[in-house]
Amino acid sequence: MANAQGVVRSKLPSVEIPENVSLAEFVLQNAEKYGDLVALVNGETGQQFTYRELLQNVRRVGSGLFKAGLRKNDVFYIYCPNVPEYAFGLLGALAIGGVVTTVNPLYTEEELEYQLRSTKATFIMTVPENVSKVKDAAREIGHLKVVYVVGDAPAGTFPFSVLLNDDGIAFPSFVPFNTREDVAILPSSSGTTGMPKPVMLTHYNLVANLMQIDNPYIQTRVTPGEDCYVCVLPVFHIFGLTSVLFKGLRLCLKVVTVRKFHLDSYLKIVTENKGSVLHCVPPIVIHLAKNPLVDKYDLSCVRDILSGAAPLGKNTEIAIQKRLGISIGQGYGLTETSPVVLAPPRVNCFPRKSGSSGILVPNTESKVVDPDTKQVLGANQDGELWFRGPQVMKGYFNLPQATAECIDKDGWFHTGDIGHYDEEGYFYVVDRLKELIKYKGFQVAPAELEHLIHTHPAVADVAVIGVPDEIAGELPKAYVILKHDVTATAQDISDFVAEHLAPHKRLRGGVEFVTEIPKSPSGKILRRELRKRASKQLKAK
Ligand code: AMP
Repeated sequence: MANAQGVVRSKLPSVEIPENVSLAEFVLQNAEKYGDLVALVNGETGQQFTYRELLQNVRRVGSGLFKAGLRKNDVFYIYCPNVPEYAFGLLGALAIGGVVTTVNPLYTEEELEYQLRSTKATFIMTVPENVSKVKDAAREIGHLKVVYVVGDAPAGTFPFSVLLNDDGIAFPSFVPFNTREDVAILPSSSGTTGMPKPVMLTHYNLVANLMQIDNPYIQTRVTPGEDCYVCVLPVFHIFGLTSVLFKGLRLCLKVVTVRKFHLDSYLKIVTENKGSVLHCVPPIVIHLAKNPLVDKYDLSCVRDILSGAAPLGKNTEIAIQKRLGISIGQGYGLTETSPVVLAPPRVNCFPRKSGSSGILVPNTESKVVDPDTKQVLGANQDGELWFRGPQVMKGYFNLPQATAECIDKDGWFHTGDIGHYDEEGYFYVVDRLKELIKYKGFQVAPAELEHLIHTHPAVADVAVIGVPDEIAGELPKAYVILKHDVTATAQDISDFVAEHLAPHKRLRGGVEFVTEIPKSPSGKILRRELRKRASKQLKAK
């Protein structure tokens, strides 16, 4: 499987990645041909847009943004739930050379401000319920120029419809792109350590990843006009963005946006729109496998289910196969890799192996490395997973040191995940070396929580880890040392976190008061020790 240097290459034929096409152009390449087909549907309201309307709206939004002053490399911030307008703003800004930074619509003002500052965003698109947070953050940072609101726009903001009603005339006829260098998307990831960081994904990175996954050995066979992707995964996360929205539109399928996951309404939207390929995170798959509500719906339209963003248990895979009679495939990737590096093979092409996170996508190499000795390991030996390929990010924005820590001089990206491959090139992700916590597939950076909890007046020291949870994957838990003269309850600390950070970062794993936090001589928190302690406590329960 591996060569003499221990490098495993994708067993799929290489694909040629176009260098001269920008991301928006690539995504919309077939839109004209399928102009009459439905491109986007608002899952909640049923409002539809054809591919012709999509093209027109992208052009209008691009023109309107250009008139408003957005120029190449200016950062456009999208702070919205999944709605069709998301695609118009995203592709319109990209088409004129803007850089799009995507963010969880549930972010608090503090989180918003942090990302606005770190990405230097100047234009923002949001929804009415987020306007006051945007206004407060804008006052603090000063460099936000224009706010567009999808819906009612209060004073000081513009309705997004201003862009949709633009005459399209200012849409630039030619924007020069250096696709390997120009950043298209700037999502956020904490990587292996520290605070969330803006990830620079170039036009080339994303076009490459779309080419890599739209592949006859991987991609479930789909037909324009027949197949439908239900986009319940948040588009602000790279899995929803690349694998559902961009891919669905590139393939000219019907893409139905879903604002928020509620099982009942999701199933209704899937059946009404005849969703054929479902992209899920493990908690959704668990619902599909176990929740009695599923029996109320005829899911015979579903031909394939793809899960990613977090590990999926073997038992859930088996349960879903039994219940729905279809295979489920697991993929693996990271924000830093656009995201896909491992994908489940297409059914009947190669077998899908239970528990595996897939095979290497084309043009991708891997090495499994012992994290302590840095020795390259062979088949069936667990070590840190390294990947190299055209989908690996350019780096973290303005953070050369953090970039150098995860991409080495030979271009290998060190994931901070532990896993192995078998003799047939199937990969298995078994553990995480890095400190990242994943709650329902969402990133929670322990450093961010620790940073915040440190500011609580009663706290002397704190460490945060993830504790295992059957449904969510992991729950953030804080170990807190209180100051001598001040008291606080666990509830006080939890409330403090809930007040300042998005809901997925809440301390659902609990708060435990301790007298000591295990640290290395250099002061690094020994999270492994805490994880062991937590797992003992869980077993004792
Ligand atoms: P994100 O950048 O939010 O996509 O998070 C990337 C991280 O999610 C990876 O480094 C893994 O820790 C985790 N992850 C993604 N897919 C899988 C998978 N199939 N199995 C296990 N962990 C996964």
